[in-house]
Amino acid sequence: MKLYAPSTIRQIKDKYGFRLSKSLGQNFLTDKNIIDKIIEESFIGEHDLVIEIGPGIGVLTSEAAEQGGKIIAVEIDKNLIPILQETLEGYDNVEILNRDILKTDLNEIIEQNPIINGGPVNSVRIIGNLPYYITTPIIMKILEDGTKADSITIMMQKEVADRIKAQAGKKAYGALSVAVQYYCTVNHVANVPKEVFVPQPKVDSTVIRLDIRTEKPVALKDEKIFFQCVKAGFGQRRKTMSNSLTGVCGLSKEQVGQVLESIGVDSQRRAETMNIEEFAMLANAVYDMVR
Ligand code: SAM
Repeated sequence: MKLYAPSTIRQIKDKYGFRLSKSLGQNFLTDKNIIDKIIEESFIGEHDLVIEIGPGIGVLTSEAAEQGGKIIAVEIDKNLIPILQETLEGYDNVEILNRDILKTDLNEIIEQNPIINGGPVNSVRIIGNLPYYITTPIIMKILEDGTKADSITIMMQKEVADRIKAQAGKKAYGALSVAVQYYCTVNHVANVPKEVFVPQPKVDSTVIRLDIRTEKPVALKDEKIFFQCVKAGFGQRRKTMSNSLTGVCGLSKEQVGQVLESIGVDSQRRAETMNIEEFAMLANAVYDMVR
């Protein structure tokens, strides 16, 4: 059975009386080339643990399972569970969990699966065609929880991928770009037109792979202050750094001026021109001032 075929989705809907849920972001992928590309770029090995977010009817899950390794598929919709049990019944390396990914402790899953195919886990791969209504919360949860994964290969709305990839000075550059690039290196995998989904969403998609860094790109004295500066900086994009930073860690406008001067950043600059190294210098200078 070609799981990805639109006719299969129709058959499944008829057989199970299943109704696609718009509010759960259910846009199912029907293009084998894209499925293959996502799996290929996930680099799944025999001793890898794969966590899939939102398997739907299992198009990516089955292809991931073919690579070997162990797949844990986390699906929130209880109506999809009997369907997944049928579509994936031929694979003994797949476990289906009926859970909300945002309420799932991924490190617990990782700790519970130390051995895959008789050997210690080689890599932990997170994959998924994400439900678009919670793309950013899912990514930030994985990163902020310090999930012990190696890579995250995910499809998302093109605009969100553009923000994640953007460099300083670009229109799409913002707090999300800085945060994701702090934790990961970002790789473009594929552009995906909206026509390859059932039902068709309003927007095009992009697949990216985030390789979680083993070493951060900048040395921070205090990560929390770094993210406070980034958040404040981009909070009101039109404000200058001098204005938007006033109040961060209780700093007065005068102190902000001193901090910016000490690192050679013009107080009239705006956050969208500040690269990650400059935000790091800034955060470390703020730390020195308030410590
Ligand atoms: N992987 C399938 C595919 O590519 O055809 C389905 C992708 S669809 C865009 C998103 C999937 O995520 C749906 O199956 C949806 O039910 C599921 N989902 C939505 N919110 C979720 C959540 N909070 N936790 C886990 N799964 C969720």
